[in-house]
Amino acid sequence: QNAPVVTIDGPSGAGKGTVSTLLARRLKWHFLDSGAIYRVLAIASLHHQIDPADEAGLVPLASSLDVSFETGDSGTRIILEGEDVTDAIRTEEIGSVASQVAALPCVREALLRRQRAFRDSPGLVADGRDMGTVVFPQAQAKIFLTASAEERASRRHKQLKEKGHDVSITRLLADIQARDERDANRKVAPLVPAEDAYVVDSTELTIDDVVEKISQFVALKL
Ligand code: C5P
Repeated sequence: QNAPVVTIDGPSGAGKGTVSTLLARRLKWHFLDSGAIYRVLAIASLHHQIDPADEAGLVPLASSLDVSFETGDSGTRIILEGEDVTDAIRTEEIGSVASQVAALPCVREALLRRQRAFRDSPGLVADGRDMGTVVFPQAQAKIFLTASAEERASRRHKQLKEKGHDVSITRLLADIQARDERDANRKVAPLVPAEDAYVVDSTELTIDDVVEKISQFVALKL
């Protein structure tokens, strides 16, 4: 468990997913999408009819979550209790339930070991909200990737439009602001940059710019 770790934290829509995937590919390292774990727990809670505020009900579910990440040529498929939930976990509704279950301290605690198990040689790129502050405080390189809420709403709008969904940008912006607020103000593992994090604002940058900037920082730290 001594493999090096690069953490990439930040709010939703800052480009963490894309950037972390590209960085992991470039380094030929493992990749942890911790948000996907919260999303899977959210969907599992709906399947099992457990209220997203029912901490005592969610903890056993979180501890025994039967989820696997299967990486193949077409990317990673996420399997929950034998069912492929790769696309189902990406809806706005599930994102919102995920952020509710993620606000519960005992639920976060129950998911710690599962997240740490992703650390393996030759290294791990971990994407989330508290990767550098809570899950991997000893990480070799910590990045906090952010962008203005307006820019994140407009990126999300474009993404949804490409998939054929026309959601109003005002509504998306309101959702993003509500989720930022909840993630930043929760008592446990709030979304804040680690003290030793390199903060990158992607508002005016392309994906390639961001990957380049982060790669240079990581190269200095390893
Ligand atoms: O990153 P993503 O949007 O998939 O995450 C879904 C939700 O899970 C976030 O809004 C956040 O509330 C929660 N989350 C978290 N800690 C992480 C990753 C995600 O609280 N490390």
